[in-house]
Amino acid sequence: MEIDRAFKIRLYPTADQAALLAKTFGCKRFIWNAMLAERMAWYRDHGKSIGNQRKTEKEWKISFPFLKTVDAIALQQARIDLDRAYDNFFTGRARFPLFKSRKGKQSYRTINVNDNVKIDFHRRHLTLPKVGPVAYRDDRAFMERVRSVTVSRTKTGRFFASILVKQECKVEPLAALQEDKIAAFDMSSRNFLVGEHSRYENPRFYRSAEPRLVRLHRRVSRKLKGSSNRDKARVRLARTYEKIGHRRTDWLQKISTTLANEHEGIIIEDLNVASMKRWNGGIAKSVTLDFSWGAFVRMLGYKMAWRGKHIVMINRFYPSSKTCSACGAVNRTLTLADRHWTCPSCGAMHDRDVNAAITIKREGLRILSEKGIKVIKPTLPLERRESTLLETRQDQFPRWHGSMKEESTSFRAW
Ligand SMILES: [Zn+2]
Repeated sequence: MEIDRAFKIRLYPTADQAALLAKTFGCKRFIWNAMLAERMAWYRDHGKSIGNQRKTEKEWKISFPFLKTVDAIALQQARIDLDRAYDNFFTGRARFPLFKSRKGKQSYRTINVNDNVKIDFHRRHLTLPKVGPVAYRDDRAFMERVRSVTVSRTKTGRFFASILVKQECKVEPLAALQEDKIAAFDMSSRNFLVGEHSRYENPRFYRSAEPRLVRLHRRVSRKLKGSSNRDKARVRLARTYEKIGHRRTDWLQKISTTLANEHEGIIIEDLNVASMKRWNGGIAKSVTLDFSWGAFVRMLGYKMAWRGKHIVMINRFYPSSKTCSACGAVNRTLTLADRHWTCPSCGAMHDRDVNAAITIKREGLRILSEKGIKVIKPTLPLERRESTLLETRQDQFPRWHGSMKEESTSFRAW
């Protein structure tokens, strides 16, 4: 199995290289904005997507010769990204793409074609097209060929390269999992992850730093526009955001490593964070900044794969919160505000998140068995063994459509 892996390293370009990198960011931003404006004008005049009528990079370069001085692939990748963003908008998957600002984080992506991107681990040089060998500082090394590199400059003026490689994962995935080594988690806005037996609190790095951030934001807006004091205040604000971001990433790395070490299988809900933001304006801020669900799932995904373990994503339309874990009835009246509820069918009392974790686990176990992965039940004391065997013979993982009565008795036997 092949796994995408990214190595992020800090770059130390010379003054000339930094100037050329800045120019590349500028040209990429220029072509992105020009192409976006072209597409918007076309849409205004014709009421549909521009399709193949758009100008090519070559045509843009004829009109604006300065574009020829930078890495051509960076411009090509900007067009590819814009096309994708545009498609996603027209198919309803994303919002309309935005113009890129000079003030935000700057970046460009280049692809390794005929080894024009090289990394020399011995001399610690990353060679980029047109820019040449750029010094970096990092101890890690890898054998694989570089596929692509995203070069970025933070608001605080530091340069980074995120190097993407495809690594062959030689670890065979486990064919059988111990059931007690499988955990299921529901994600909630209060806690980060809630399992049947454990929960991981979200430290809310951004929320707790909010007073400080508000103060720094205010300082920026009080300074005169275009003044060097305003720039200084902006850098200080950006550095604070960076620091909080590092603490959050660090926490996510630790928790994903712990989870991957302790479990053979992890089941989580494939949550649509974008739609959650839309529904829940009030918590949108902590969702976007503190939640970082996507980043966490990516980390956990490769850490599990490296260990030959399994991660199962449950379809977000599966009614995990609304399904009673005791009897299987679906409670359609449950709202987001209900943290505790009593099942109208069987009277069981539930903590919303714990109940969801249990139903997610059942659904995940069903998917695992569908994939042909064996789940080994924990060995039980002798007197209990009989009832377990009986249940296993009927159906390894009770399905809801079966007889409700039978299921509830078999669960009580546990
Ligand atoms: Zn029930």
